[in-house]
Amino acid sequence: MFRRSIYKTPAQLRSMIEPGLITAAALDAVAPLVLPGTTTLELDAIAEQTILACGAESNFQLVRGYRHTVCVSVNEQVVHGIPGSRVLEAGDIVSVDCGAQFEGWNGDSARTFIVPGEADAALIARRQELSRVTEGSMWAGIAAMVSASHVGDIGAAIEDYIEAQGEYGILREYVGHGIGRKMHEAPSVFNYRTPDPGAEIKPGLVLAIEPMVTAGGDETFVEDDDWTVSTVDGSDGSHWEHSVAVHADGIWVLTAADGGAAGLAAFGVTPTPLA
Ligand code: MG
Ligand code: MG
Repeated sequence: MFRRSIYKTPAQLRSMIEPGLITAAALDAVAPLVLPGTTTLELDAIAEQTILACGAESNFQLVRGYRHTVCVSVNEQVVHGIPGSRVLEAGDIVSVDCGAQFEGWNGDSARTFIVPGEADAALIARRQELSRVTEGSMWAGIAAMVSASHVGDIGAAIEDYIEAQGEYGILREYVGHGIGRKMHEAPSVFNYRTPDPGAEIKPGLVLAIEPMVTAGGDETFVEDDDWTVSTVDGSDGSHWEHSVAVHADGIWVLTAADGGAAGLAAFGVTPTPLA
């Protein structure tokens, strides 16, 4: 049986620049609408409009049984929340996951927002901290792609970062992944240490790095809608994700307009544009 290599050619990597930037543009369009009174379906609509205006299509809509452009996961929901009539409230912690397919290549990225406005200051501070830890662990994992030899080292870097920040839960049933012609490709990228070192990190590898972190335990369940993943203990969740290419001269974050320069600076890593 023919199996496509997980390592892409330089030309294939270049084909992933545009879908990455379109995915970033969709999340940029969502961000200012994360306000009290906005419905999660309104966030979906602006993301879809942005992707279509770029001449791309939503790759989430290509997932069997899913009809929306984004997933919106609020408070104790961690991932895979379905957009709908839910109205955002000040202080909510909201993770938005989005992807675009352009000329047959895919981008995938997620960000967490805290809805601005009047809300319990201590609650907001805790949620901001959860998002900061989750985002930081994503950048730690991305930074590890520069020096690590195997994909398993990325999970170790993510886990170490989170453990150094305090008591948090790392989802174990949901993981990062390769990305390319399909949104979800081999290899899996665990967000914690595993006995298996995993695939070799070398030029041509493109990974979606996406830690999913809770302010409590790591146990989750799928809600009655058959999609939404929520924490069993009701603790808050956060999800950050970027699609990242490894190439001959370094790494480049495809779903960040700056290639990840701002997020990677704290780790002493400078991304290198694809040649
Ligand atoms: Mg995603
Ligand atoms: Mg993903």
